[in-house]
Amino acid sequence: MAREIVVMGAGMVGVSVAWYLARRGHAVTLVDRREPGRETSFGNAGIIQREAVQPYPFPRDLATMLRVLPNRQVDIRYRPGGMVQAAGPLLQYWQNSAPKRYARIVPEYASLICLSLEAHAPMVEAAEADALVRREGWLEVYRTREAMAARLRDTEANAERFGVRYRALEANELATLEPRLSDDLAGAIHWEQPWTVADPGALVQAYAKSFEAEGGRVWQADVTDVARHGNGWRVATSEGELDAEQVVMAMGPWSREWLSNLGLDIPLFVKRGYHMHYGTTDSARLGHWVMDAEVGYLLAPMQAGIRLTTGAELERLEAPPHLAQLAAAERVAKKLFPLGERLDAEPWKGARPCTPDMKPVIGPAPGQEGLWLALGHGHQGFTLGPATGRLLAQMMDGERPEIDMAPFRADRF
Ligand SMILES: Cc1cc2nc3c(=O)[nH]c(=O)nc-3n(C[C@H](O)[C@H](O)[C@H](O)COP(=O)(O)OP(=O)(O)OC[C@H]3O[C@@H](n4cnc5c(N)ncnc54)[C@H](O)[C@@H]3O)c2cc1C
Repeated sequence: MAREIVVMGAGMVGVSVAWYLARRGHAVTLVDRREPGRETSFGNAGIIQREAVQPYPFPRDLATMLRVLPNRQVDIRYRPGGMVQAAGPLLQYWQNSAPKRYARIVPEYASLICLSLEAHAPMVEAAEADALVRREGWLEVYRTREAMAARLRDTEANAERFGVRYRALEANELATLEPRLSDDLAGAIHWEQPWTVADPGALVQAYAKSFEAEGGRVWQADVTDVARHGNGWRVATSEGELDAEQVVMAMGPWSREWLSNLGLDIPLFVKRGYHMHYGTTDSARLGHWVMDAEVGYLLAPMQAGIRLTTGAELERLEAPPHLAQLAAAERVAKKLFPLGERLDAEPWKGARPCTPDMKPVIGPAPGQEGLWLALGHGHQGFTLGPATGRLLAQMMDGERPEIDMAPFRADRF
């Protein structure tokens, strides 16, 4: 039966939830203070990561900890304020990264990742967004044979267990594929299944337009209050009130404070990241998305230029940007590929919404009938938004979801 539903947050996750609900005939309003896809879902690396069956664990080996400690690395930096504010969740994250616990988390996480492409596919088609999407995979390049061999060992196991397809490239094969990359690389892993998106924000916008074409309503307004009202919910916004039988919280990194107002403590924390676009020198062309795996940044040939995205910064959500990590990545990247001048006036800053066990929260809010949660997608929300939408819509319609959703319950913390 068709129901009135309000989805709060129009990033990749909220738009996808709204899209799948509208497809099922529900009357859905999608509310965001900005246009769809203008926050975290705008500035990411744009990879639909079918290979990412293993979420990022907290480093536990001494060598990595000693490397990270001086706070000068490209892949991860920390700030005292961010560490203090997220101390509880970070401690749990460290505990969940211990080999035994992590081994349990991987297949749970992989069950979502395995649905990622097939959940995006009908949305790309309905949105007529094929021009934004390339289906040629991406490259993880290595500087040393040892690091590449270690990664390949994990990869072989993942190929068998979770159907990940890849090709190991020798240095000369990599040079043929990407002739303008530095010639002192040991080789690369070519992840063959993932899709790459030349303008991630535009894909979210195209999905939102397709949602409107299905009869959905996009409402641009600041959410100012969420409360029970009669048998349903009332969402107060800067543009007026919205009443609904059910509401979905999909406000990414901003979800935590809203849930704590409702008495729900979900231990979300953020890993911030930056991007900048560059031109190239002497018309150099980059054909693929390339991650410099042992350094920890990514180069993506986007419509707006070559987008460099940084690794993680453990810092408070709203603290001002710190630009040293981007500058350090830029120095290394310029030696990997002939990047030209910066194209943006300011670096972009965003925040990955993370949970201590690396898995998103998807399902009903405990003790709050009619409130549903779709948040905490960390490093892979652009990948997992549509799978989340498809599964949550099945749950909201009282169907048995196609995978076990117990690992993603909100009451597991
Ligand atoms: C540098 C970087 C690279 C990344 N690369 C990738 C990648 O290649 N592949 C991948 O899968 N993932 C990647 N990610 C992660 C991915 O971007 C996120 O997991 C994902 O965008 C989260 O989506 P979301 O919809 O949960 O949040 P968001 O996109 O942040 O959406 C939340 C929305 O809530 C709205 N909102 C907040 N407060 C209010 C309010 N009071 N009223 C109304 N609206 C409100 C915001 O305006 C926003 O639009 C990357 C992230 C970063 C930072």
